[in-house]
Amino acid sequence: MTLDKLELVCVGCRAVYAPPRLHCDHCSGLLRSQYAEQTFDPADRTGLFAFQDWLPPAACADIPAGAVVYTSQGLAERLQMENLAIAFSGYAPKLGALNPTGTFKDFEATPSILYYRERGVESLILASAGNTARAFAYAAVQLDFHVIIVVPERALERLWIPCEATEAVRLIVLDGCDDYATAIRAAGHIGDVLGIPNEGGARNVARRDGMSTAMLEYAKQTGALPGHYVQAIGSGTGAIASWEAAQRLLAAGVGTELPRLHLSQNAPFTPIHDAWARGIRIDPDRDPEDQQRRIDEIDALVLANRMPPYDVAGGVRDALSSTDGHTYAITNDEARAAGALFEETEHIPIGPAASVATASLIQALQDGRIALDDPVLLHITGNGEALLRRDFDLHQIEPTWRVRPEDLTEATIETARDRLVRSP
Ligand SMILES: *Cc1c(COP(=O)(O)O)cnc(C)c1O
Repeated sequence: MTLDKLELVCVGCRAVYAPPRLHCDHCSGLLRSQYAEQTFDPADRTGLFAFQDWLPPAACADIPAGAVVYTSQGLAERLQMENLAIAFSGYAPKLGALNPTGTFKDFEATPSILYYRERGVESLILASAGNTARAFAYAAVQLDFHVIIVVPERALERLWIPCEATEAVRLIVLDGCDDYATAIRAAGHIGDVLGIPNEGGARNVARRDGMSTAMLEYAKQTGALPGHYVQAIGSGTGAIASWEAAQRLLAAGVGTELPRLHLSQNAPFTPIHDAWARGIRIDPDRDPEDQQRRIDEIDALVLANRMPPYDVAGGVRDALSSTDGHTYAITNDEARAAGALFEETEHIPIGPAASVATASLIQALQDGRIALDDPVLLHITGNGEALLRRDFDLHQIEPTWRVRPEDLTEATIETARDRLVRSP
């Protein structure tokens, strides 16, 4: 037994490990945090560090990240709903939502860096299609922690942060590449050659537990669990995290039943929806051209993930089964209409991903899957950059190394080593 605040338990085979760790030795299951403190007793502060008992790091940081949960008036009235709560995880000062890069990726970055740093890790490498890169870059600058971030060229134009980048952040741009899955593989390869640990994506408990704080904030506000949780997903990490939060809350005596998950993707790129609806596995390498053509058509690019943690124990499929969940394929037109309705009724513009989630709520009401008086938590996972741009100077992150994915070899990575690692 460890005296630590948490242990990691494999959801697949119940093996127990000391943190930090990403994989079980015996099976492919996700590792989940099991906290010594099992009562739900949020601290008297705003933001995600109110839930520090259920976050992996021992320390807090002064970063204004966290979901703001409020009762909807405008949208609820329009949809004739009696009990609609919104978790707003973007940047909207009039709501008190101050997430520095405008999405719920801000909940993942700071806890992850603190968690690894406290356990002796000095550098991390990660891949991102955009929003994760911004959140980790910002947190790395604030905490002066060295990160290497690998992005497809296509993500480069959106890589701004609301402060100046420092040499804590080393950005690798994959030239001629618009594929997130390639960036994930490249980050794995580069990390192996340089000897820098991978942050871990959905397998990183600090990321999931950071994301779980939207559900915890709902419980803090209402003392209960919602009947339904509605979110747009790419990897599904946020959905797994909300399911895990609900399980912790139930065990702590908050609520009586797990919320039903309503998870949506942007058609025509809907691998999780397809797998769930047809009861099949996800094959990230099936017909790559067809997948790319579909990705090129969707508005909500942050939802385009070909390798989600779906089939593993504790992954998205288990989250859907255990909550009697449902998935949705939302077209661009449906999402745009829902985004416009949200802006008209709640007076805040939201991004394409949150518009997909809003459209799925509308569909669930139409199909009778959610009743008008059910308590619902709609997660607005991010909004556009307009309000951030109004309030901050946004600084582009400059690439440290540009390389074509096909040129990544041990030798070329070695030639870039000095630029990528941090000198002691
Ligand atoms: C990353 C992201 C999502 C999808 O989250 P997953 O955890 O990958 O499913 C949804 N909305 C926004 C704004 C995001 O940045």
